[in-house]
Amino acid sequence: MYQPPKRKKRRRKGGIFRRLLVLLILFVLGYGGFFLYYRYGKPYTVALDAGHGGEDVGSVGVIQEVQLTEQTVTDLEKLLKEDGRFRVVLTRKMGEGMSITDRNRKLAFLQPDLMLSVHGNADETGEASGFECYPAVPGMENHEASMEFAALLAEEMEAAGSELRGGNGIRFGYYVNGEKMLVDSTDTTVYDYDTFGVLKNQTGAAVLVEQCFVTNESDVANFGTEEGRQKAAEAYYRAILRYLGADETTENQTEP
Ligand SMILES: [Zn+2]
Repeated sequence: MYQPPKRKKRRRKGGIFRRLLVLLILFVLGYGGFFLYYRYGKPYTVALDAGHGGEDVGSVGVIQEVQLTEQTVTDLEKLLKEDGRFRVVLTRKMGEGMSITDRNRKLAFLQPDLMLSVHGNADETGEASGFECYPAVPGMENHEASMEFAALLAEEMEAAGSELRGGNGIRFGYYVNGEKMLVDSTDTTVYDYDTFGVLKNQTGAAVLVEQCFVTNESDVANFGTEEGRQKAAEAYYRAILRYLGADETTENQTEP
């Protein structure tokens, strides 16, 4: 007897529906699993950004800026991973370039608890020296958190032997008609200017550090050599622990 194609059609429809439902469930489970793992797998997400990279070597002085940024970030990543309590994410792979827009897009998606972008300073005279850092500027959602983290970074770098520029080593950076405008942290005016791209669109603390002057011999000797970069990484590590309130456990563990 002839079976009307209706049933067949209906069955196929059900098949597609079921398949879609299975796909949807798999998607929800997969995405949910990733979300839960990402959110609760480790208590803190720390994002590290090694400034410049690829074709862009940054400022060139006694050393190339990119050497400083990549090795310091590598050392810091190692310290954080050995600690084991942090999810460490890098904005870019070492040796590769990445636009500020792409770095920012990645950071906006990740929403880390804190973000540290490492750079090296430069000046034409070769005289300028010291450490300074740039938290998310006044008016930004993550300004207060960034200020807190910046103060700890400056404190730890000073303890490591660095001189803080502008008194407390904290400044705000803006772009005015494409030109950089840097102001001391005492100027808390909420300007309608653009700021450094890696500091934007995040809720967690975001700070860009100028570790030392790559154009200054003694600065490079202190914080630009292999040893110096390790020293800076350790200072940043201590600042991160203090900011996240994770330093007490570590101190207790190291007590005899
Ligand atoms: Zn730079």
